[in-house]
Amino acid sequence: MATTLCSQCDKPEIQCTCEKFCCFCQSQHDIRLAVDRMYYCPECREACDVTLADKDEH
Ligand SMILES: [Zn+2]
Ligand SMILES: [Zn+2]
Repeated sequence: MATTLCSQCDKPEIQCTCEKFCCFCQSQHDIRLAVDRMYYCPECREACDVTLADKDEH
């Protein structure tokens, strides 16, 4: 399984130290990396129907 990397620093979300904000609305609340390597807030992620990068992590 390929790890989804941050589009800015090419590191996994857990190692990424970039300032995280939603690529759509610029919100900084609850921002997570999605499979398209962009960061989204929950609302925009649902609106765009993109999946979390690490959705299978427990
Ligand atoms: Zn990064
Ligand atoms: Zn957003």
